[in-house]
Amino acid sequence: MKKSFAVIGLGRFGGSVVKNLIDSGQEVLAMDSDEERVHEFMNIATHSVVANAQDENTLRSLGIRNFDTVVVAIGEDIQASILTTLMVKEMGVENVWVKAQNDYHARVLEKIGADRVVHPERDMGARIAHRLVARNLLDFLEISDKFSMAEVRVTNTKLFGKSLEELNLTGRYGVNIAAIRRSDGTVELAFSGTVISENDNLLVLGDTKAVELMDETF
Ligand code: ATP
Repeated sequence: MKKSFAVIGLGRFGGSVVKNLIDSGQEVLAMDSDEERVHEFMNIATHSVVANAQDENTLRSLGIRNFDTVVVAIGEDIQASILTTLMVKEMGVENVWVKAQNDYHARVLEKIGADRVVHPERDMGARIAHRLVARNLLDFLEISDKFSMAEVRVTNTKLFGKSLEELNLTGRYGVNIAAIRRSDGTVELAFSGTVISENDNLLVLGDTKAVELMDETF
Protein backbone atom coordinates (compact mmCIF):
# COMPACT_ATOMS: atom_id res chain seq x y z
CA MET A 1 0.00 0.00 0.00
CA LYS A 2 1.18 3.52 -0.82
CA LYS A 3 2.21 5.61 2.18
CA SER A 4 1.85 9.35 2.59
CA PHE A 5 4.83 11.49 3.50
CA ALA A 6 5.25 15.13 4.51
CA VAL A 7 8.71 16.66 4.32
CA ILE A 8 9.21 19.89 6.26
CA GLY A 9 12.28 21.88 5.16
CA LEU A 10 13.49 21.70 1.57
CA GLY A 11 17.24 22.24 1.95
CA ARG A 12 19.68 19.85 0.27
CA PHE A 13 18.72 17.02 2.64
CA GLY A 14 14.93 17.50 2.69
CA GLY A 15 14.92 18.19 -1.05
CA SER A 16 16.76 14.97 -1.76
CA VAL A 17 14.33 13.02 0.45
CA VAL A 18 11.38 14.47 -1.49
CA LYS A 19 12.88 13.64 -4.91
CA ASN A 20 13.78 10.09 -3.94
CA LEU A 21 10.36 9.39 -2.38
CA ILE A 22 8.66 10.68 -5.54
CA ASP A 23 10.99 8.54 -7.69
CA SER A 24 9.91 5.50 -5.72
CA GLY A 25 6.25 6.28 -6.36
CA GLN A 26 5.20 7.76 -3.01
CA GLU A 27 2.87 10.68 -2.29
CA VAL A 28 4.74 13.61 -0.79
CA LEU A 29 3.72 16.96 0.64
CA ALA A 30 6.73 19.31 0.47
CA MET A 31 6.71 22.23 2.90
CA ASP A 32 9.04 25.17 3.50
CA SER A 33 8.68 28.70 4.83
CA ASP A 34 10.78 29.97 1.92
CA GLU A 35 8.68 30.63 -1.17
CA GLU A 36 11.55 30.17 -3.63
CA ARG A 37 12.41 26.73 -2.24
CA VAL A 38 8.78 25.65 -2.50
CA HIS A 39 8.61 26.97 -6.06
CA GLU A 40 11.44 24.57 -7.02
CA PHE A 41 9.34 21.62 -5.83
CA MET A 42 6.01 22.64 -7.36
CA ASN A 43 6.41 20.29 -10.31
CA ILE A 44 8.19 17.57 -8.34
CA ALA A 45 6.21 16.92 -5.13
CA THR A 46 2.59 15.70 -5.11
CA HIS A 47 1.65 18.88 -3.20
CA SER A 48 3.82 21.78 -2.12
CA VAL A 49 3.08 24.53 0.34
CA VAL A 50 4.70 27.67 1.70
CA ALA A 51 4.16 27.51 5.46
CA ASN A 52 5.86 28.08 8.78
CA ALA A 53 5.93 24.71 10.52
CA GLN A 54 6.16 26.41 13.92
CA ASP A 55 2.56 27.56 13.53
CA GLU A 56 0.32 24.92 15.10
CA ASN A 57 -2.83 26.09 13.29
CA THR A 58 -1.07 25.78 9.94
CA LEU A 59 0.00 22.22 10.73
CA ARG A 60 -3.57 21.37 11.75
CA SER A 61 -5.15 22.93 8.67
CA LEU A 62 -2.74 20.97 6.46
CA GLY A 63 -3.95 17.80 8.15
CA ILE A 64 -0.42 16.81 9.21
CA ARG A 65 -1.81 14.20 11.62
CA ASN A 66 -3.13 12.19 8.65
CA PHE A 67 0.33 11.53 7.19
CA ASP A 68 1.95 8.15 7.81
CA THR A 69 5.41 9.66 8.09
CA VAL A 70 6.67 13.18 8.62
CA VAL A 71 10.31 14.12 7.98
CA VAL A 72 11.49 17.24 9.80
CA ALA A 73 14.44 18.43 7.74
CA ILE A 74 14.91 21.86 9.25
CA GLY A 75 18.63 22.23 9.87
CA GLU A 76 20.04 25.38 11.37
CA ASP A 77 17.00 26.66 13.27
CA ILE A 78 17.16 24.11 16.09
CA GLN A 79 14.28 25.72 17.96
CA ALA A 80 12.02 25.41 14.91
CA SER A 81 13.08 21.79 14.45
CA ILE A 82 12.33 20.90 18.10
CA LEU A 83 9.01 22.73 18.24
CA THR A 84 7.85 21.25 14.94
CA THR A 85 8.78 17.73 16.04
CA LEU A 86 6.97 18.19 19.35
CA MET A 87 3.77 19.44 17.70
CA VAL A 88 3.77 16.77 15.00
CA LYS A 89 4.19 14.04 17.62
CA GLU A 90 1.47 15.60 19.81
CA MET A 91 -0.87 15.60 16.82
CA GLY A 92 -0.45 11.84 16.71
CA VAL A 93 1.79 11.15 13.70
CA GLU A 94 3.13 7.62 14.17
CA ASN A 95 6.44 7.91 12.40
CA VAL A 96 8.49 11.11 12.69
CA TRP A 97 12.05 11.23 11.35
CA VAL A 98 14.15 14.28 12.19
CA LYS A 99 17.47 15.58 10.96
CA ALA A 100 19.74 16.53 13.89
CA GLN A 101 22.30 19.30 13.71
CA ASN A 102 24.45 17.99 16.59
CA ASP A 103 24.40 15.50 19.49
CA TYR A 104 22.62 17.86 21.92
CA HIS A 105 19.91 18.47 19.37
CA ALA A 106 19.63 14.71 18.85
CA ARG A 107 19.21 14.06 22.58
CA VAL A 108 16.37 16.57 22.85
CA LEU A 109 14.68 15.11 19.77
CA GLU A 110 14.82 11.60 21.24
CA LYS A 111 13.37 12.86 24.56
CA ILE A 112 10.40 14.53 22.90
CA GLY A 113 9.49 11.42 20.99
CA ALA A 114 11.16 11.57 17.55
CA ASP A 115 10.95 8.04 16.18
CA ARG A 116 14.21 8.25 14.29
CA VAL A 117 16.95 10.87 14.52
CA VAL A 118 19.32 11.07 11.55
CA HIS A 119 22.71 12.79 11.24
CA PRO A 120 23.29 12.82 7.48
CA GLU A 121 26.56 14.78 7.44
CA ARG A 122 28.08 12.79 10.32
CA ASP A 123 26.96 9.45 8.92
CA MET A 124 28.17 10.18 5.42
CA GLY A 125 31.52 11.39 6.82
CA ALA A 126 31.90 8.14 8.78
CA ARG A 127 30.98 6.08 5.74
CA ILE A 128 33.49 7.83 3.49
CA ALA A 129 36.27 7.67 6.11
CA HIS A 130 35.77 3.90 6.43
CA ARG A 131 36.07 3.54 2.69
CA LEU A 132 39.16 5.76 2.49
CA VAL A 133 41.20 3.62 4.86
CA ALA A 134 39.86 0.21 3.92
CA ARG A 135 41.53 -2.14 1.46
CA ASN A 136 38.69 -4.52 0.76
CA LEU A 137 35.70 -2.62 2.11
CA LEU A 138 33.45 -1.72 -0.82
CA ASP A 139 30.60 -0.20 1.13
CA PHE A 140 29.82 0.49 4.74
CA LEU A 141 26.54 1.33 6.43
CA GLU A 142 26.06 2.10 10.12
CA ILE A 143 22.62 0.72 10.92
CA SER A 144 22.61 1.78 14.59
CA ASP A 145 25.05 3.17 17.18
CA LYS A 146 26.36 -0.34 17.60
CA PHE A 147 25.84 -2.30 14.39
CA SER A 148 27.05 -1.95 10.81
CA MET A 149 26.73 -3.73 7.54
CA ALA A 150 29.53 -3.85 4.98
CA GLU A 151 30.33 -5.34 1.62
CA VAL A 152 33.83 -6.83 1.81
CA ARG A 153 35.89 -8.29 -1.05
CA VAL A 154 37.56 -11.62 -0.22
CA THR A 155 41.25 -11.51 -1.21
CA ASN A 156 42.70 -13.92 1.36
CA THR A 157 43.40 -17.10 -0.65
CA LYS A 158 43.16 -19.24 2.52
CA LEU A 159 39.41 -18.65 2.52
CA PHE A 160 38.73 -19.82 -1.03
CA GLY A 161 36.91 -23.16 -1.28
CA LYS A 162 35.81 -23.08 2.38
CA SER A 163 32.21 -23.15 3.53
CA LEU A 164 30.82 -20.58 5.97
CA GLU A 165 30.36 -23.39 8.47
CA GLU A 166 34.07 -24.25 8.28
CA LEU A 167 35.11 -20.61 8.60
CA ASN A 168 32.84 -20.11 11.64
CA LEU A 169 32.94 -16.29 11.34
CA THR A 170 30.08 -15.93 13.83
CA GLY A 171 31.92 -17.94 16.49
CA ARG A 172 35.33 -16.40 15.81
CA TYR A 173 34.47 -12.76 15.13
CA GLY A 174 30.82 -12.29 16.09
CA VAL A 175 29.72 -11.30 12.58
CA ASN A 176 26.99 -12.79 10.41
CA ILE A 177 27.27 -13.20 6.66
CA ALA A 178 23.91 -12.16 5.25
CA ALA A 179 24.60 -12.69 1.54
CA ILE A 180 27.31 -13.22 -1.06
CA ARG A 181 27.79 -11.26 -4.27
CA ARG A 182 29.39 -13.63 -6.78
CA SER A 183 31.89 -12.45 -9.42
CA ASP A 184 29.13 -12.37 -12.09
CA GLY A 185 27.16 -9.87 -9.95
CA THR A 186 24.46 -12.27 -8.73
CA VAL A 187 23.59 -12.11 -5.04
CA GLU A 188 22.79 -15.24 -3.01
CA LEU A 189 21.58 -15.53 0.56
CA ALA A 190 24.27 -17.13 2.69
CA PHE A 191 23.82 -20.53 4.36
CA SER A 192 26.20 -22.60 6.46
CA GLY A 193 27.01 -24.77 3.42
CA THR A 194 27.77 -21.80 1.13
CA VAL A 195 31.32 -22.05 -0.27
CA ILE A 196 33.46 -18.94 -0.85
CA SER A 197 35.20 -18.53 -4.21
CA GLU A 198 37.76 -16.10 -5.61
CA ASN A 199 36.31 -12.62 -6.37
CA ASP A 200 33.29 -13.05 -4.09
CA ASN A 201 32.09 -10.15 -1.98
CA LEU A 202 30.54 -10.89 1.40
CA LEU A 203 27.74 -8.83 2.94
CA VAL A 204 28.72 -8.80 6.59
CA LEU A 205 26.51 -7.76 9.48
CA GLY A 206 27.61 -7.25 13.08
CA ASP A 207 29.13 -5.05 15.73
CA THR A 208 30.83 -2.08 13.98
CA LYS A 209 34.30 -2.89 15.34
CA ALA A 210 34.00 -6.53 14.31
CA VAL A 211 32.81 -5.56 10.83
CA GLU A 212 35.78 -3.18 10.43
CA LEU A 213 38.09 -6.03 11.40
CA MET A 214 36.77 -8.08 8.48
CA ASP A 215 38.63 -5.76 6.13
CA GLU A 216 41.91 -7.24 7.46
CA THR A 217 40.63 -10.82 7.77
CA PHE A 218 39.28 -11.24 4.26
P1 ATP B 1 20.70 21.26 4.12
O1 ATP B 1 22.04 20.90 4.71
O2 ATP B 1 19.74 20.14 4.07
O3 ATP B 1 20.76 22.05 2.85
P2 ATP B 1 20.44 22.89 6.42
O4 ATP B 1 20.80 21.85 7.42
O5 ATP B 1 21.42 23.99 6.17
O6 ATP B 1 20.00 22.25 5.08
P3 ATP B 1 18.44 24.85 6.64
O7 ATP B 1 18.83 25.41 5.32
O8 ATP B 1 18.68 25.61 7.88
O9 ATP B 1 19.06 23.44 6.83
O10 ATP B 1 16.91 24.43 6.62
C1 ATP B 1 16.37 23.63 5.65
C2 ATP B 1 15.10 24.26 5.15
O11 ATP B 1 14.16 24.38 6.22
C3 ATP B 1 15.28 25.66 4.57
O12 ATP B 1 14.83 25.66 3.22
C4 ATP B 1 14.42 26.54 5.45
O13 ATP B 1 13.74 27.56 4.71
C5 ATP B 1 13.41 25.55 6.02
N1 ATP B 1 12.84 26.00 7.29
C6 ATP B 1 13.50 26.55 8.34
N2 ATP B 1 12.63 26.88 9.32
C7 ATP B 1 11.40 26.50 8.88
C8 ATP B 1 10.08 26.56 9.43
N3 ATP B 1 9.85 27.06 10.65
N4 ATP B 1 9.05 26.10 8.68
C9 ATP B 1 9.25 25.59 7.45
N5 ATP B 1 10.46 25.50 6.88
C10 ATP B 1 11.53 25.95 7.57
